[in-house]
Amino acid sequence: MAEKQKVQTSTKVLCSKCGKDYYISFVADGHRDYFCDKCLKEMHHNRKKGNIKKVFDKRKKINVYEFICDLCDCFRRAVYSPEIINGNILCKECEAKKKAQDRKKMRKNVIIVKNVKS
Ligand SMILES: [Zn+2]
Ligand SMILES: [Zn+2]
Repeated sequence: MAEKQKVQTSTKVLCSKCGKDYYISFVADGHRDYFCDKCLKEMHHNRKKGNIKKVFDKRKKINVYEFICDLCDCFRRAVYSPEIINGNILCKECEAKKKAQDRKKMRKNVIIVKNVKS
């Protein structure tokens, strides 16, 4: 049996986003944009942003919500539907943080009036 030599085709391309060069395992025709893994991941992440996806968790047999929190930028999978404040999707932790902040802000404007019964 003749041994077939494996030729790995790789093309050096420039990432259209960060400008870094990297190698791809196929021949690039140069007519489209190429993105490195890091940028692809980032773009995928950003595309998911702003969306709340309701999915059914077959194992737990409950509906869960998949979203990316606008404040901490973390991908979350939660049993609760996230709070949307000023157009931002917030996870429970950030929502609690934000509410605590708002409460602090509000307290400054509160004038305590004593009810004096006559
Ligand atoms: Zn890149
Ligand atoms: Zn968050």
